[in-house]
Amino acid sequence: MSYSGIGVSPGIAVGPIRRVTRTQLSEPVPASPRSVFKALDAVATDLEKRAESVALEVARDVLSAQAMIARDPALVEAIGARLLDDIEYPDVRSQITEAFAGFKEALAALGGYFAERVADLEEISDRLLAMLSGQEYEDVKLSEPSVIVALDLTPADTASLDLNFARALVVEKGGPTSHTAIVARGLGIPAIVGCVGIMDVPEGQIIMVDGREGLVLTNPSDGEIEARNTREESLRARASSVVGPGRLSDRTPISLLANAGNAQDAISAATVGAEGIGLFRTELLFLDRNDEPSVDEQVELYRSVFEAMAGRRVVVRTLDAGSDKPVPFINAIHEENPALGVRGWRLTRTADNVLDRQLDAIAAASRAVNADIWVMAPMIDVPSEAAEFAHRARARGLRRVGVMVETPASAILADKVLAEVDFASLGTNDLTQYVMAADRLDSRLSDLTSTWHPAVLRTIKMAASGAEALGRPIGVCGEAAANPQLAAIMIGLGVSSLSMAPSALAEVRGFLAQVDRATCVRAAEQVLAVSSADEAEGIALDLFGS
Ligand code: PEP
Ligand code: MG
Repeated sequence: MSYSGIGVSPGIAVGPIRRVTRTQLSEPVPASPRSVFKALDAVATDLEKRAESVALEVARDVLSAQAMIARDPALVEAIGARLLDDIEYPDVRSQITEAFAGFKEALAALGGYFAERVADLEEISDRLLAMLSGQEYEDVKLSEPSVIVALDLTPADTASLDLNFARALVVEKGGPTSHTAIVARGLGIPAIVGCVGIMDVPEGQIIMVDGREGLVLTNPSDGEIEARNTREESLRARASSVVGPGRLSDRTPISLLANAGNAQDAISAATVGAEGIGLFRTELLFLDRNDEPSVDEQVELYRSVFEAMAGRRVVVRTLDAGSDKPVPFINAIHEENPALGVRGWRLTRTADNVLDRQLDAIAAASRAVNADIWVMAPMIDVPSEAAEFAHRARARGLRRVGVMVETPASAILADKVLAEVDFASLGTNDLTQYVMAADRLDSRLSDLTSTWHPAVLRTIKMAASGAEALGRPIGVCGEAAANPQLAAIMIGLGVSSLSMAPSALAEVRGFLAQVDRATCVRAAEQVLAVSSADEAEGIALDLFGS
């Protein structure tokens, strides 16, 4: 049997399944308000202690963040509002569940990164009830090398796993930005999220996990294991064998850039030899801000990223607030359909000055450092928006002005949109969700949200042709750039730069060094002619190998 999900940490692992399940408390939990607050404090202290004792930095951050939630005065207040009398309540489960429910709903409604934080709250509430009922909250204990399988791992489960025995993680729920994914990448073990059906596989069953492909095989044969291990090793070897700027085998230059959300990412990008930052997601700096940061504060934050890339290109994206990345100080209004609502550039309709102040800060930061600062706007749909953005950016002395092409409209009208600006970057994550009309965060739709789909590839071709007609450069900064075969297809379709997570760069660079432009063009022509994502991927594998 095989199961598939989203591969979030590459590598091959084989081992017996160790299922992690959490049982709900079925007995009443009697307590007084005083003992509830004492227990909440003990839960926070315990999380803080765990944070101090784990070596892995990302795990430490996860545990500290949870401890902070447990100490949040708003949470204490919500519990206090439900336990008013200073008496011993016969059962406090419903009051505690209700107090947490409000917070969970608010996070879930925000979607994306925030929705994935619901697991943090669930764990704190479970730990609190376990503490009050005098039960040990059971940690995941392993006594032999195992593949951990769960509906969803709590952040602390993931952070405190015994690395000597945890071979891989596979969860039914979760997305690419869940803690399971973040911690697994930090630990360097293979991981798959959104793997529907995996909880039906029995405890102890031997499975093979391919964290690169997002594939689980039950009872793999020796031949299958060997073939996948050999492939993984050769991919890693190829990645480390090529250095320097991106080039195809015929010497065609392809700029290889990195995506960054903060100065730390920019430093990682410099370490892996990125030629610059192709997408600086500025909104990620402000996801937890209730108030707009001052221009001065913004200047400092942008400068820290520019300085890590001194002498190189940094493409700054103006705030892409909204939809999966709501920023509290700007996205205050509830929207029925936020992916199609007021997000990205469209925020100029409701919070115009925020963008102006951000452009002021980007311009000031760019004057203060020696880096090649480009600026682009997200979610540009029509040419007049591109013209307005270019006007505002150029008025501040920003010389290289571009747009993200991530809606079907801007791709179809690329020859008009690009006439207003200097360059474009294809946001293939959003472009795919909008072409396919399928939510990019919904793992049930992952077959539809594939950039391999010829409907998406034809749209990209249209955008690239529009750019080519005007002689303007067009690149890719969505996840598609991080998949070597798909990156080669993008080149065949006409893009000249690729921007990706720093961790993907070496592999893409190594792969591209082996293919020539003519093969990329031939592959692109062929994938445009098929009817499904699988066929397109098959063609690329046949032509390029893996
Ligand atoms: C994209 O949509 O492809 C993109 C790069 O932007 P984000 O993922 O931040 O929406
Ligand atoms: Mg986008």
